Amino acid sequence: MKIKRVAIVGGGTAGWLAANHLGVELSRDPEIEITLIESKDIPIIGVGEGTVPQIKATLKRFGIAEIDLLSTCDATFKQGIKFARWMDAEKYGSDHFYYHPFSSPFPSGFDVTHYWLNNRDSFEYSMLSEIYSVAEMNRCPKQKSSPPYMGLVDYAYHFNALKFAELLAKNARERFAVKHLVETISQVLLHTDGSIKGFVYASGCEQEFDFFIDCTGFSSLLIGDTLGVPFLDKSSQILTDTALAIQEPVAESDEILPYTLATAHKAGWIWDIPLTQRRGVGFVYSSRHMTEAEAVGSFSDYLGRDLQNTQLRKIPMKIGYREFFWKKNCAALGLAQGFVEPLEATSILVTDFAALLLARNFPKTADDISVVSAHCNKAVSYTWERVIDFVQLHYCISDRRDSPFWIDSTTNPVMSDVLRERLALWKIGVPKKTDFFSSFDIFGVENHLFVLYGMDYPTRPGALGVNEASRSAELVRITQEKSLQMSQSLMPHRAWLTELKKALENR
Ligand SMILES: Cc1cc2nc3c(=O)[nH]c(=O)nc-3n(C[C@H](O)[C@H](O)[C@H](O)COP(=O)(O)OP(=O)(O)OC[C@H]3O[C@@H](n4cnc5c(N)ncnc54)[C@H](O)[C@@H]3O)c2cc1C
Repeated sequence: MKIKRVAIVGGGTAGWLAANHLGVELSRDPEIEITLIESKDIPIIGVGEGTVPQIKATLKRFGIAEIDLLSTCDATFKQGIKFARWMDAEKYGSDHFYYHPFSSPFPSGFDVTHYWLNNRDSFEYSMLSEIYSVAEMNRCPKQKSSPPYMGLVDYAYHFNALKFAELLAKNARERFAVKHLVETISQVLLHTDGSIKGFVYASGCEQEFDFFIDCTGFSSLLIGDTLGVPFLDKSSQILTDTALAIQEPVAESDEILPYTLATAHKAGWIWDIPLTQRRGVGFVYSSRHMTEAEAVGSFSDYLGRDLQNTQLRKIPMKIGYREFFWKKNCAALGLAQGFVEPLEATSILVTDFAALLLARNFPKTADDISVVSAHCNKAVSYTWERVIDFVQLHYCISDRRDSPFWIDSTTNPVMSDVLRERLALWKIGVPKKTDFFSSFDIFGVENHLFVLYGMDYPTRPGALGVNEASRSAELVRITQEKSLQMSQSLMPHRAWLTELKKALENR
């Protein structure tokens, strides 16, 4: 039986990303009809404002112009993440920070890590990135004349999540003729073989489909509640489980950071995401290590004002993922599939990756499902495991021991065999491309290098050849000079965005 009627349930970022990816792949076939169903009574989560550079390729693929994103989603540019206070303040100082920039630490493709290991006290590892000075000086990654989706250095975006979902929705409806239905599903109907048949809506109507994509957020209505795919709880590896979120006003004259600021505290960290109209700030913590009252107190200290009588949005976070993302005629994406806490903005990234994988492997008939779902399930589970490893890395290699949270995160932590083996390997030698076996390692050697050495990971330095030393020294000098030059020639981030706004108003 040919799969013709596809239902995507959920109108958040995951649902609309799926609608666009399926639209790109399937809209050539006039027999296939894609319908996105969302409930007006169940709002989307509305957080999820930080991305990674892969989002640019996705938006291009969807046919969305960069200018539309910038003009409708309060978007700013993100050149990476600046991690503050993730190391022992007594040893490194309370103002210690490092960057995980969206760039390579290999100037002209040459790995200078050995050189850095032999000279680690003289400069920060993130200074091997051209982004370092550009970010520190709050510069925009693009020139006025830069083509869409390109800058002098690489970048992603921060954006308003609600407006981003609307932009994706408009594109899916107009470009790919995705149908949009506002209904609340009150009952899921099954075939005798246990696969999903359709829905009964709260309005009383019934509707049947051939294939289902569960984007219902943390409620996981189809893959979890209906098909009973177990949730693999990873809260023993990543201890943070709660977020308090707030939106902070900004003045027109305030500078806009061109990065996400991630500041560690005694039981987690704080995200600080600049948009053009406001900041999105969130206090992520482990409720096993900090009470809500302590969290509010610490969050108040960060923001410099008392939050005791302020309405904070409290978001419990389930850390882990579904054992299978695809079962029978249903695949899950977004929070319905899994979540690892917002550090490194992995959620939209994994959703986007899994939605593309699903779209490219979309079964033509019901008979195809068992073959493609087995393949895709392996890929997605592997991706989740490595994403969890990467997020955990930020906690487990810290030398902070100033609270029970940091002691528990760093003293014999529960971790995957892969992470344990890699950490042992990286004590003896520097990470190499060949340490990453699969294209489903979506954080590769360069991402790991920035985090490991941003946090001063103790790799044994190897001997350095004379030529290697002089070539490395020269390449490091050139990179730092170039970064400085760019930071002087590029416009301030705020000024670039303001000029764009004015130009659009005068159009
Ligand atoms: C604290 C926090 C911070 C985050 N920060 C980041 C970040 O910086 N970067 C990042 O990449 N990700 C981040 N994320 C994750 C990000 O928010 C999500 O990946 C993204 O918003 C996608 O959510 P979703 O579409 O899966 O679910 P939701 O936005 O929750 O959407 C669920 C949809 O399902 C529909 N629905 C549910 N039940 C029914 C029903 N019975 N009938 C009909 N419709 C139904 C709802 O109406 C809604 O439209 C963060 C998450 C949290 C919790």
